Amino acid sequence: MPDPTPTEYHAFFLTDHNGRHLLCIPHQKTKNVYEIEPLNHDFAGIVTYRNKLREVLLEGADIQWGKKCIGYEESDDGVWALFEDGTREFGDLLIGADGINSPIRKQKVPNLEIFDNGVTCVTVDFAIPKNLANQLMSIYSNSIIQESLGQNGDFHFSSFRLIPIDQSDEPTYRTTLAYVYPTKFDINDKISINDDDPGSVIKHIISKIKQLRPPCDLTNLLIELFSIVPLSHPGEKYPFRTYIPPRRFQFLDVYPLSVPPWKNDRIFLLGDAAHAMNPILGLGANHAIQDAELLTKELLNYNNDNLVECIRQYNEQMRTRSSKGVMESRNMILNHKESVGYLGLLVRYSIFRVINFFNYIMAFIKFHT
Ligand SMILES: Cc1cc2nc3c(=O)[nH]c(=O)nc-3n(C[C@H](O)[C@H](O)[C@H](O)COP(=O)(O)OP(=O)(O)OC[C@H]3O[C@@H](n4cnc5c(N)ncnc54)[C@H](O)[C@@H]3O)c2cc1C
Repeated sequence: MPDPTPTEYHAFFLTDHNGRHLLCIPHQKTKNVYEIEPLNHDFAGIVTYRNKLREVLLEGADIQWGKKCIGYEESDDGVWALFEDGTREFGDLLIGADGINSPIRKQKVPNLEIFDNGVTCVTVDFAIPKNLANQLMSIYSNSIIQESLGQNGDFHFSSFRLIPIDQSDEPTYRTTLAYVYPTKFDINDKISINDDDPGSVIKHIISKIKQLRPPCDLTNLLIELFSIVPLSHPGEKYPFRTYIPPRRFQFLDVYPLSVPPWKNDRIFLLGDAAHAMNPILGLGANHAIQDAELLTKELLNYNNDNLVECIRQYNEQMRTRSSKGVMESRNMILNHKESVGYLGLLVRYSIFRVINFFNYIMAFIKFHT
Protein backbone atom coordinates (compact mmCIF):
# COMPACT_ATOMS: atom_id res chain seq x y z
CA MET A 1 0.00 0.00 0.00
CA PRO A 2 1.49 3.41 -0.87
CA ASP A 3 2.20 5.61 2.15
CA PRO A 4 -0.61 8.22 2.23
CA THR A 5 1.58 10.68 4.12
CA PRO A 6 4.76 11.13 2.05
CA THR A 7 4.52 14.92 2.11
CA GLU A 8 3.26 15.41 5.65
CA TYR A 9 5.34 17.36 8.22
CA HIS A 10 4.65 16.85 11.93
CA ALA A 11 5.03 20.49 12.75
CA PHE A 12 3.43 23.76 13.83
CA PHE A 13 3.20 26.60 11.32
CA LEU A 14 1.91 30.11 12.07
CA THR A 15 0.78 32.78 9.60
CA ASP A 16 -0.78 36.21 9.83
CA HIS A 17 -4.40 36.92 8.80
CA ASN A 18 -3.38 37.01 5.11
CA GLY A 19 -1.59 33.66 5.20
CA ARG A 20 1.85 35.30 5.33
CA HIS A 21 4.38 33.13 7.19
CA LEU A 22 5.19 34.28 10.75
CA LEU A 23 6.65 31.29 12.52
CA CYS A 24 7.79 27.99 11.16
CA ILE A 25 9.23 25.65 13.73
CA PRO A 26 12.08 23.50 12.34
CA HIS A 27 10.42 20.25 11.41
CA GLN A 28 10.61 16.94 9.60
CA LYS A 29 8.48 14.69 7.45
CA THR A 30 6.52 12.04 9.27
CA LYS A 31 8.42 8.76 9.04
CA ASN A 32 5.45 6.74 7.89
CA VAL A 33 1.73 6.53 8.53
CA TYR A 34 2.27 5.16 12.06
CA GLU A 35 5.41 6.93 13.25
CA ILE A 36 6.85 10.41 13.52
CA GLU A 37 10.53 10.99 12.88
CA PRO A 38 12.39 11.43 16.20
CA LEU A 39 13.58 15.03 16.59
CA ASN A 40 16.46 16.40 18.60
CA HIS A 41 14.53 19.51 19.56
CA ASP A 42 11.31 20.24 21.42
CA PHE A 43 9.17 21.65 18.66
CA ALA A 44 7.40 18.68 17.08
CA GLY A 45 3.66 18.17 17.05
CA ILE A 46 1.49 15.28 15.94
CA VAL A 47 -2.23 14.69 15.58
CA THR A 48 -3.70 11.74 17.47
CA TYR A 49 -7.32 10.61 17.48
CA ARG A 50 -8.94 11.02 20.85
CA ASN A 51 -11.60 8.34 20.35
CA LYS A 52 -8.92 5.80 19.37
CA LEU A 53 -6.78 6.70 22.41
CA ARG A 54 -9.83 6.34 24.64
CA GLU A 55 -10.65 2.90 23.16
CA VAL A 56 -7.12 1.72 23.87
CA LEU A 57 -7.21 3.06 27.44
CA LEU A 58 -10.58 1.38 28.08
CA GLU A 59 -9.31 -2.07 27.11
CA GLY A 60 -9.77 -4.46 30.04
CA ALA A 61 -11.09 -1.72 32.38
CA ASP A 62 -14.21 -2.46 34.41
CA ILE A 63 -16.38 0.61 33.87
CA GLN A 64 -19.88 1.40 35.10
CA TRP A 65 -21.40 3.92 32.72
CA GLY A 66 -24.12 6.47 33.43
CA LYS A 67 -23.21 7.12 37.06
CA LYS A 68 -22.53 10.62 38.36
CA CYS A 69 -20.15 11.04 41.28
CA ILE A 70 -21.29 13.83 43.60
CA GLY A 71 -18.66 13.68 46.36
CA TYR A 72 -16.86 11.43 48.83
CA GLU A 73 -16.52 10.50 52.48
CA GLU A 74 -13.14 9.60 53.94
CA SER A 75 -12.65 7.18 56.83
CA ASP A 76 -9.56 5.91 58.67
CA ASP A 77 -9.10 2.90 56.41
CA GLY A 78 -10.46 4.10 53.07
CA VAL A 79 -12.78 6.37 51.14
CA TRP A 80 -16.39 6.17 49.89
CA ALA A 81 -17.25 7.59 46.48
CA LEU A 82 -20.85 8.84 46.52
CA PHE A 83 -23.11 8.75 43.45
CA GLU A 84 -26.18 10.72 42.45
CA ASP A 85 -28.33 7.55 42.26
CA GLY A 86 -27.72 6.99 46.00
CA THR A 87 -25.12 4.22 45.56
CA ARG A 88 -21.59 4.32 47.00
CA GLU A 89 -18.30 2.48 46.41
CA PHE A 90 -15.51 1.89 48.94
CA GLY A 91 -11.78 1.86 48.10
CA ASP A 92 -8.31 2.50 49.53
CA LEU A 93 -7.91 5.60 47.36
CA LEU A 94 -10.07 7.87 45.22
CA ILE A 95 -8.72 9.42 42.01
CA GLY A 96 -10.68 12.48 40.92
CA ALA A 97 -10.09 12.49 37.14
CA ASP A 98 -13.48 14.06 36.48
CA GLY A 99 -12.55 17.07 34.36
CA ILE A 100 -12.63 20.83 34.83
CA ASN A 101 -15.93 20.88 36.77
CA SER A 102 -14.75 18.09 39.08
CA PRO A 103 -17.06 17.65 42.10
CA ILE A 104 -14.14 15.90 43.81
CA ARG A 105 -11.96 19.04 43.47
CA LYS A 106 -14.82 21.27 44.62
CA GLN A 107 -15.08 19.24 47.82
CA LYS A 108 -11.34 18.68 48.41
CA VAL A 109 -9.98 22.12 47.43
CA PRO A 110 -13.02 24.43 47.34
CA ASN A 111 -10.90 27.57 47.02
CA LEU A 112 -9.20 26.35 43.80
CA GLU A 113 -11.23 28.29 41.27
CA ILE A 114 -11.80 28.32 37.51
CA PHE A 115 -10.27 31.31 35.69
CA ASP A 116 -11.91 32.67 32.52
CA ASN A 117 -9.25 33.62 29.91
CA GLY A 118 -11.69 35.99 28.18
CA VAL A 119 -11.76 34.28 24.79
CA THR A 120 -14.45 32.25 23.07
CA CYS A 121 -13.88 29.38 20.68
CA VAL A 122 -15.96 27.51 18.14
CA THR A 123 -14.45 24.17 17.26
CA VAL A 124 -15.59 21.57 14.75
CA ASP A 125 -14.46 18.06 13.88
CA PHE A 126 -15.41 16.97 10.38
CA ALA A 127 -14.10 15.58 7.11
CA ILE A 128 -12.75 17.94 4.43
CA PRO A 129 -12.27 17.14 0.73
CA LYS A 130 -8.79 16.89 -0.78
CA ASN A 131 -8.98 20.18 -2.67
CA LEU A 132 -9.53 22.15 0.58
CA ALA A 133 -6.87 20.10 2.39
CA ASN A 134 -4.46 20.93 -0.44
CA GLN A 135 -5.23 24.65 -0.12
CA LEU A 136 -4.46 24.56 3.60
CA MET A 137 -1.32 22.50 3.03
CA SER A 138 -0.03 24.93 0.41
CA ILE A 139 -0.44 27.92 2.77
CA TYR A 140 1.06 25.98 5.68
CA SER A 141 3.93 24.23 3.82
CA ASN A 142 2.50 20.77 4.51
CA SER A 143 2.58 21.24 8.30
CA ILE A 144 -0.22 19.39 10.03
CA ILE A 145 -0.69 21.92 12.85
CA GLN A 146 -1.73 25.28 11.42
CA GLU A 147 -2.61 28.62 12.95
CA SER A 148 -3.28 32.15 11.70
CA LEU A 149 -3.19 35.22 13.91
CA GLY A 150 -5.76 37.96 13.25
CA GLN A 151 -5.45 41.65 14.14
CA ASN A 152 -8.36 41.67 16.58
CA GLY A 153 -7.11 39.20 19.16
CA ASP A 154 -8.61 36.41 17.04
CA PHE A 155 -6.92 33.33 15.61
CA HIS A 156 -7.74 30.22 13.64
CA PHE A 157 -6.39 26.73 14.28
CA SER A 158 -6.62 23.70 12.01
CA SER A 159 -5.03 20.29 11.97
CA PHE A 160 -5.38 17.06 10.06
CA ARG A 161 -3.29 14.13 8.94
CA LEU A 162 -3.01 13.25 5.28
CA ILE A 163 -4.58 9.87 5.89
CA PRO A 164 -7.69 9.64 3.70
CA ILE A 165 -10.75 8.30 5.47
CA ASP A 166 -12.44 7.04 2.31
CA GLN A 167 -11.46 5.71 -1.09
CA SER A 168 -13.59 7.92 -3.34
CA ASP A 169 -12.21 9.89 -6.32
CA GLU A 170 -11.83 12.91 -4.03
CA PRO A 171 -10.70 11.51 -0.66
CA THR A 172 -11.60 13.30 2.57
CA TYR A 173 -9.49 13.93 5.67
CA ARG A 174 -10.51 13.99 9.31
CA THR A 175 -9.98 17.59 10.45
CA THR A 176 -10.25 19.78 13.54
CA LEU A 177 -10.94 23.45 12.86
CA ALA A 178 -11.30 26.20 15.47
CA TYR A 179 -11.83 29.94 15.41
CA VAL A 180 -11.08 31.86 18.58
CA TYR A 181 -11.92 35.50 19.39
CA PRO A 182 -12.13 37.77 22.45
CA THR A 183 -15.41 37.18 24.30
CA LYS A 184 -15.95 40.96 24.50
CA PHE A 185 -17.08 40.89 20.85
CA ASP A 186 -20.03 38.65 21.77
CA ILE A 187 -20.87 40.76 24.81
CA ASN A 188 -20.66 44.09 22.92
CA ASP A 189 -22.63 42.75 19.94
CA LYS A 190 -25.37 41.39 22.22
CA ILE A 191 -25.57 38.36 19.95
CA SER A 192 -28.21 35.68 20.28
CA ILE A 193 -27.12 32.13 19.46
CA ASN A 194 -28.70 28.81 20.20
CA ASP A 195 -25.65 26.78 21.26
CA ASP A 196 -27.66 23.55 20.96
CA ASP A 197 -28.33 24.24 17.27
CA PRO A 198 -25.27 23.48 15.06
CA GLY A 199 -26.71 25.70 12.27
CA SER A 200 -26.91 28.67 14.64
CA VAL A 201 -23.31 28.15 15.87
CA ILE A 202 -21.93 27.87 12.31
CA LYS A 203 -23.86 30.96 11.14
CA HIS A 204 -22.47 32.86 14.11
CA ILE A 205 -18.84 31.87 13.55
CA ILE A 206 -18.96 32.70 9.83
CA SER A 207 -20.32 36.16 10.63
CA LYS A 208 -17.61 36.58 13.30
CA ILE A 209 -14.88 35.72 10.76
CA LYS A 210 -16.36 38.20 8.28
CA GLN A 211 -16.46 40.84 11.03
CA LEU A 212 -12.90 40.33 12.31
CA ARG A 213 -10.90 39.24 9.26
CA PRO A 214 -10.08 41.26 6.11
CA PRO A 215 -11.27 39.80 2.79
CA CYS A 216 -8.48 37.58 1.40
CA ASP A 217 -7.90 34.00 0.21
CA LEU A 218 -7.30 32.67 3.73
CA THR A 219 -10.49 34.30 5.05
CA ASN A 220 -12.47 32.84 2.13
CA LEU A 221 -10.98 29.42 2.79
CA LEU A 222 -11.93 29.53 6.50
CA ILE A 223 -15.49 30.57 5.60
CA GLU A 224 -15.73 27.78 3.01
CA LEU A 225 -14.46 25.23 5.54
CA PHE A 226 -16.96 26.24 8.20
CA SER A 227 -19.78 26.31 5.66
CA ILE A 228 -19.30 22.62 4.74
CA VAL A 229 -19.57 21.43 8.35
CA PRO A 230 -22.47 18.95 8.50
CA LEU A 231 -25.31 20.20 10.67
CA SER A 232 -26.34 16.72 11.71
CA HIS A 233 -24.49 13.45 12.24
CA PRO A 234 -23.35 12.07 8.86
CA GLY A 235 -22.79 8.55 10.24
CA GLU A 236 -19.62 6.83 11.34
CA LYS A 237 -16.88 6.04 8.86
CA TYR A 238 -14.52 3.30 9.89
CA PRO A 239 -11.96 3.73 11.40
CA PHE A 240 -12.49 7.38 12.28
CA ARG A 241 -15.27 9.34 13.92
CA THR A 242 -15.39 12.43 11.75
CA TYR A 243 -18.04 14.55 13.37
CA ILE A 244 -18.59 16.21 16.72
CA PRO A 245 -21.33 18.85 16.71
CA PRO A 246 -19.98 22.43 16.48
CA ARG A 247 -19.86 24.05 19.86
CA ARG A 248 -18.99 27.41 21.33
CA PHE A 249 -17.09 27.46 24.61
CA GLN A 250 -14.85 29.69 26.74
CA PHE A 251 -11.15 29.14 27.35
CA LEU A 252 -10.89 28.41 31.08
CA ASP A 253 -8.15 27.18 33.37
CA VAL A 254 -7.41 26.05 36.93
CA TYR A 255 -4.06 27.09 38.45
CA PRO A 256 -3.01 24.71 41.27
CA LEU A 257 -0.37 27.05 42.73
CA SER A 258 -3.02 29.75 43.29
CA VAL A 259 -3.84 27.97 46.58
CA PRO A 260 -1.63 26.55 49.34
CA PRO A 261 -0.68 22.84 49.08
CA TRP A 262 -3.70 20.70 49.81
CA LYS A 263 -3.95 17.84 52.32
CA ASN A 264 -2.04 14.67 51.43
CA ASP A 265 -4.97 12.33 52.04
CA ARG A 266 -6.48 9.40 50.15
CA ILE A 267 -8.09 11.62 47.52
CA PHE A 268 -6.02 12.46 44.42
CA LEU A 269 -6.76 14.95 41.69
CA LEU A 270 -5.56 14.09 38.20
CA GLY A 271 -5.75 15.86 34.82
CA ASP A 272 -8.15 18.75 34.21
CA ALA A 273 -9.73 18.21 37.63
CA ALA A 274 -6.47 19.52 39.15
CA HIS A 275 -5.06 21.75 36.42
CA ALA A 276 -7.27 22.44 33.40
CA MET A 277 -5.38 24.61 30.92
CA ASN A 278 -6.63 26.37 27.82
CA PRO A 279 -5.88 24.36 24.67
CA ILE A 280 -3.68 26.88 22.83
CA LEU A 281 -0.45 24.95 23.44
CA GLY A 282 -2.10 21.53 23.34
CA LEU A 283 -0.73 20.54 26.75
CA GLY A 284 -3.75 19.45 28.84
CA ALA A 285 -4.00 15.77 27.88
CA ASN A 286 -0.21 15.50 27.87
CA HIS A 287 -0.16 16.61 31.52
CA ALA A 288 -3.02 14.24 32.40
CA ILE A 289 -0.98 11.34 30.96
CA GLN A 290 2.12 12.50 32.87
CA ASP A 291 0.01 12.60 36.06
CA ALA A 292 -1.10 9.02 35.49
CA GLU A 293 2.49 7.91 34.97
CA LEU A 294 3.71 9.76 38.07
CA LEU A 295 0.90 8.42 40.23
CA THR A 296 1.59 4.87 39.07
CA LYS A 297 5.28 5.31 39.87
CA GLU A 298 4.58 6.71 43.34
CA LEU A 299 2.06 3.99 44.19
CA LEU A 300 4.56 1.33 43.11
CA ASN A 301 6.90 2.81 45.78
CA TYR A 302 4.20 2.31 48.39
CA ASN A 303 4.71 0.09 51.42
CA ASN A 304 2.72 0.09 54.67
CA ASP A 305 4.73 2.90 56.24
CA ASN A 306 5.04 5.51 53.54
CA LEU A 307 1.62 6.09 51.99
CA VAL A 308 1.52 9.75 52.99
CA GLU A 309 5.01 10.31 51.54
CA CYS A 310 3.96 8.75 48.19
CA ILE A 311 0.89 10.98 48.10
CA ARG A 312 2.94 14.05 49.01
CA GLN A 313 5.45 13.34 46.25
CA TYR A 314 2.64 13.02 43.71
CA ASN A 315 0.82 16.17 44.82
CA GLU A 316 3.96 18.28 44.92
CA GLN A 317 5.39 17.22 41.54
CA MET A 318 2.00 17.31 39.80
CA ARG A 319 1.16 20.79 41.13
CA THR A 320 4.51 22.29 40.14
CA ARG A 321 4.79 20.74 36.66
CA SER A 322 1.20 21.38 35.62
CA SER A 323 1.09 24.94 36.99
CA LYS A 324 3.85 25.85 34.55
CA GLY A 325 1.69 24.56 31.67
CA VAL A 326 -1.38 26.41 32.93
CA MET A 327 0.51 29.71 33.13
CA GLU A 328 2.30 29.33 29.80
CA SER A 329 -1.06 28.66 28.12
CA ARG A 330 -2.78 31.50 29.96
CA ASN A 331 -0.05 34.04 29.20
CA MET A 332 -0.06 33.05 25.55
CA ILE A 333 -3.80 33.77 25.34
CA LEU A 334 -3.59 37.01 27.31
CA ASN A 335 -0.92 38.22 24.87
CA HIS A 336 -2.86 36.99 21.82
CA LYS A 337 -6.21 38.48 22.67
CA GLU A 338 -5.28 42.14 22.32
CA SER A 339 -6.05 43.92 19.05
CA VAL A 340 -3.03 45.25 17.15
CA GLY A 341 -2.79 48.29 14.86
CA TYR A 342 -0.28 48.77 12.04
CA LEU A 343 2.55 49.56 14.45
CA GLY A 344 1.64 46.47 16.49
CA LEU A 345 1.74 44.37 13.33
CA LEU A 346 5.24 45.64 12.53
CA VAL A 347 6.38 44.75 16.04
CA ARG A 348 4.71 41.32 15.69
CA TYR A 349 6.48 40.59 12.38
CA SER A 350 9.83 41.68 13.85
CA ILE A 351 9.41 39.57 16.97
CA PHE A 352 8.53 36.46 14.97
CA ARG A 353 11.47 37.03 12.64
CA VAL A 354 13.81 37.05 15.66
CA ILE A 355 12.10 33.99 17.20
CA ASN A 356 12.37 32.12 13.89
CA PHE A 357 16.05 32.93 13.70
CA PHE A 358 16.74 31.71 17.24
CA ASN A 359 14.63 28.58 16.77
CA TYR A 360 16.70 27.59 13.78
CA ILE A 361 19.95 28.28 15.61
CA MET A 362 18.76 26.20 18.59
CA ALA A 363 17.61 23.39 16.33
CA PHE A 364 20.91 23.48 14.44
CA ILE A 365 22.88 23.27 17.70
CA LYS A 366 20.72 20.42 19.02
CA PHE A 367 20.89 18.49 15.73
CA HIS A 368 24.67 18.72 15.68
CA THR A 369 25.51 18.00 19.32
C1 LIG B 1 -10.75 22.18 21.89
C2 LIG B 1 -9.73 21.49 22.76
C3 LIG B 1 -8.54 21.07 22.21
C4 LIG B 1 -7.58 20.44 22.98
N1 LIG B 1 -6.41 20.05 22.40
C5 LIG B 1 -5.47 19.42 23.14
C6 LIG B 1 -4.25 18.99 22.53
O1 LIG B 1 -4.01 19.19 21.34
N2 LIG B 1 -3.33 18.38 23.31
C7 LIG B 1 -3.55 18.16 24.64
O2 LIG B 1 -2.68 17.58 25.31
N3 LIG B 1 -4.70 18.57 25.25
C8 LIG B 1 -5.65 19.18 24.53
N4 LIG B 1 -6.82 19.59 25.12
C9 LIG B 1 -7.00 19.39 26.58
C10 LIG B 1 -7.50 17.98 26.86
O3 LIG B 1 -8.70 17.74 26.16
C11 LIG B 1 -7.76 17.82 28.35
O4 LIG B 1 -6.67 18.31 29.08
C12 LIG B 1 -7.97 16.36 28.70
O5 LIG B 1 -9.11 15.85 28.05
C13 LIG B 1 -8.13 16.21 30.20
O6 LIG B 1 -8.40 14.88 30.48
P1 LIG B 1 -9.14 14.49 31.83
O7 LIG B 1 -9.32 13.00 31.77
O8 LIG B 1 -8.45 15.09 32.98
O9 LIG B 1 -10.57 15.21 31.77
P2 LIG B 1 -11.74 15.01 30.73
O10 LIG B 1 -11.23 14.66 29.39
O11 LIG B 1 -12.62 16.20 30.88
O12 LIG B 1 -12.50 13.72 31.28
C14 LIG B 1 -13.24 13.77 32.48
C15 LIG B 1 -14.21 12.60 32.47
O13 LIG B 1 -14.91 12.60 33.72
C16 LIG B 1 -16.29 12.45 33.47
N5 LIG B 1 -17.02 13.10 34.57
C17 LIG B 1 -17.12 14.44 34.78
N6 LIG B 1 -17.84 14.67 35.89
C18 LIG B 1 -18.19 13.46 36.37
C19 LIG B 1 -18.95 13.04 37.50
N7 LIG B 1 -19.49 13.91 38.34
N8 LIG B 1 -19.12 11.70 37.71
C20 LIG B 1 -18.57 10.80 36.85
N9 LIG B 1 -17.84 11.14 35.78
C21 LIG B 1 -17.66 12.45 35.55
C22 LIG B 1 -16.54 13.10 32.13
O14 LIG B 1 -17.70 12.57 31.52
C23 LIG B 1 -15.27 12.72 31.37
O15 LIG B 1 -15.41 11.47 30.75
C24 LIG B 1 -7.81 20.23 24.36
C25 LIG B 1 -9.01 20.66 24.93
C26 LIG B 1 -9.97 21.28 24.14
C27 LIG B 1 -11.25 21.74 24.78
